[in-house]
Amino acid sequence: MRLSVKETPSKRTLNRFRNAVISWFDDNGRDYPWREDTTPYRILIAEMLLRRTTATAVLRVYSPFLATFSSIEELARADQAEIQRTVKGLGLQRVRANHLSRTSKTIQNDHGGEVPNDLDVLLKLPGLGRYSAAAILNFAFGQSVSMVDGNIAHLVSRVLDFESASPDDESIWKLVDNIGQPDHDRRLYWGMIDLVALVCLRSNPRCQLCPLNNLCEYYRKAT
Ligand code: SF4
Repeated sequence: MRLSVKETPSKRTLNRFRNAVISWFDDNGRDYPWREDTTPYRILIAEMLLRRTTATAVLRVYSPFLATFSSIEELARADQAEIQRTVKGLGLQRVRANHLSRTSKTIQNDHGGEVPNDLDVLLKLPGLGRYSAAAILNFAFGQSVSMVDGNIAHLVSRVLDFESASPDDESIWKLVDNIGQPDHDRRLYWGMIDLVALVCLRSNPRCQLCPLNNLCEYYRKAT
């Protein structure tokens, strides 16, 4: 029977989920420059570039972008057309450049050039949604906050047989918050992201290789 939005798996199950993902990430996680240097400006740029595109595509433009605009101040001064040229290849370049330009100007003018470390303030910046704002708080500032996007919702819902797989569903946020307690280790989130990209594919998931297969309801039903 599928878990309803009101039911929470046992603490033991949630701990096993978290520990398995972190341990798998330590051995198999992907290396990205935004996982090595997690200063707030770099994380902000990474999260804004990663929206609605792939990490592979972002990898091609990330370092050139930072070489061209090395700080909030430089980005805030830049011509929007130049920003657009720098993010070419990611798709939605006009919208993306507009958000990058407006967000950097707001941070420069209203926050002294420092990326805010407050959820409500971040959510007011153009181009940041709840996931990317939470990612900035967690990855750049080490705040103990959970984050849910479509991929994380997909993984959690498959393993725990949760009836919702939507990142817009508050119950998924609550469930992920319980998994991440007490510290919301960033490796848990990087691990879930990588597991969906490499193992828990939407079609033909590679369950034999999955560190969660002894917990996973989807796998249990399939076998
Ligand atoms: S066991 Fe299979 S379905 Fe379950 S999380 Fe792993 S890859 Fe996905």
